[in-house]
Amino acid sequence: MTDCGCERAKLELDEYLHDELGADEARMIREHLDGCRDCETELEVSRSLVAALKRGCREKAPDAFREQVLSAVRDMCARHADDEAAAASAASTVTPEIA
Ligand SMILES: [Zn+2]
Repeated sequence: MTDCGCERAKLELDEYLHDELGADEARMIREHLDGCRDCETELEVSRSLVAALKRGCREKAPDAFREQVLSAVRDMCARHADDEAAAASAASTVTPEIA
């Protein structure tokens, strides 16, 4: 297996989002995203962030709003990173009620 390309994909996500990549690079990123949930999630997060900020900018200066979005994203990322640990600890703490 060759390098999964996560680092590269993440570096180029912004450009990908803005259609600034060449056709070949865009295809590579798309292929990587198809097979990599981690990067796909990141793309979705960036995409909603960009959309939210665009919407926010058109209205009025959304420092608070921006902060809100950023903290939501941070939260999402933290939760994402902790997914496995959380699942493992949930599995060990939850006791089935039907015994
Ligand atoms: Zn990846």
